[in-house]
Amino acid sequence: MTQTEKVTDTDVLVIGGGTGGYSTALRAAGLGLRVLLVERDKVGGTCLHRGCIPSKAMLHAAELVDGIAEARERWGIKANLESVDWPALVATRDDIVDRNHRGVVGHLTHAAVEVVHGSAELTGPRSARISGYGEVTARRGIVLATGSRPRMLPGLVADGRRVVTSDDALFAPGLPESVLVLGGGAIGVEYASLHRSMGARVTLVEAADRLVPLEDVDVSRHLTRGLKKRGIDVRAGARLLETVVLDDGVRATVRTPRGETVTVEAERLLVAVGRAPVTDGLGLAAAGLATDGRGHVAPADWDRLETVVPGVHVVGDLLPPPSLGLAHASFAEGLLVAETLAGLRTAPVDYAAVPRVTYSAPQTASVGLSEAQARDAGHDVVVNTMPLSAVAKGMVHGQGGMVKVVAERSGRVLGVHLVGPNVSEMIAESQLIVGWDAEPSDVAHHIHAHPTLSEAVGEAFLTLAGRGLHQQA
Ligand code: FAD
Repeated sequence: MTQTEKVTDTDVLVIGGGTGGYSTALRAAGLGLRVLLVERDKVGGTCLHRGCIPSKAMLHAAELVDGIAEARERWGIKANLESVDWPALVATRDDIVDRNHRGVVGHLTHAAVEVVHGSAELTGPRSARISGYGEVTARRGIVLATGSRPRMLPGLVADGRRVVTSDDALFAPGLPESVLVLGGGAIGVEYASLHRSMGARVTLVEAADRLVPLEDVDVSRHLTRGLKKRGIDVRAGARLLETVVLDDGVRATVRTPRGETVTVEAERLLVAVGRAPVTDGLGLAAAGLATDGRGHVAPADWDRLETVVPGVHVVGDLLPPPSLGLAHASFAEGLLVAETLAGLRTAPVDYAAVPRVTYSAPQTASVGLSEAQARDAGHDVVVNTMPLSAVAKGMVHGQGGMVKVVAERSGRVLGVHLVGPNVSEMIAESQLIVGWDAEPSDVAHHIHAHPTLSEAVGEAFLTLAGRGLHQQA
């Protein structure tokens, strides 16, 4: 410490101002604790500045573009897409991000959280040094919320031009005419979908044998079918063997599941092969901590999200599975840790009941166990799958999709899986169904509005309860 640097005492020090960190800070301050939040970039973190919000803003614009094609091709509405004014689209996106950012800053100010701009390095189990600020000691505890960054494949270097990550893709001066997306998880699928809507030729390569491999197999099947129908060249079970960066693009050699070698040329290679936890410069060892084999900081006590060092907690993308690398999971973790530090007894995060969404066209939304996970866990399982086209509103949308319910034979619902238009807005009831251990007959008792897409969810449960109307058991 230099002589000019001060020492500040606080109750809680939160390192990282993303969704995990700022939610912890807001709740802890709301409970009367003195909170210092240190952020080296902008509060809001990945989700607000490089993730959820800008990507969903662009996907909304993409949906509007798709709507023009549907209007013309399906409904006889004589509309054509003239062009996409990229700077205007980006300006609207950035305005949404800016307004959200100002909102978060306002909430933190209102809650009297002291926000410090700088990089924090732990100096002990209850202390840290913040660049340009000084030493901070935390009486109640320290919360590590340093998040994640894009993972790169060995041998590939993101140059922000030809080989890009989801971060670079946001700030590129425009969308390419062709793109090879590497990685068929949520981020890869969303970016593939966005580029296709905007008119790009898209190849999507996933090493696992199916897209969104952590989801139910029927989700992958319907999603793949929907993306292929839109003209995306989906290659699951394929491996990238080599990439050559050219002046005007990339040339990639890919091995297909059949063992053939194909060459894919594209203006851009977008690498979306997962996220790596951020701990560089954090000084974990000084606090008596270390990362696990994948770079995460694992809690010793998941009920309190507390590490082996008492008083040091972890939230957000820094956590290993079963945490999910999702903003809404990190909000729940932030609430839990803040309340724990304030001496309250809060129920642990129920990761199995956290909804998971892919905002592509079609969308996927799921909660709970897949059919395979339920069987592997030893449940005696019944399954009902209902196409969205079986209800009138599904026909109006004309985009296919399905509802799949996984339940115990004479018991509770274990999982609900949706694919189709706007299913992100339909998953909320299923998350209550799974979270509250409801049985199909409990759900079947409740009436869904007609005609809606969510009627398909109601119908799927009616059938499982032996009362099917438009679908017989
Ligand atoms: P981050 O948001 O990464 O925040 C960590 C912060 O810590 C950063 O701001 C960083 O600057 C700061 N920091 C790091 N080290 C230090 C240090 N030593 N000192 C000071 N500050 C430090 N999730 C969803 O739920 N829904 C979605 O639709 C969704 N879409 C996504 C789309 C994309 C393209 C991406 C990349 C992610 C998406 N996610 C989505 C995931 C979501 O963004 C993350 O789960 C979430 O941002 C994690 O929050 P966090 O607080 O753990 O970390």
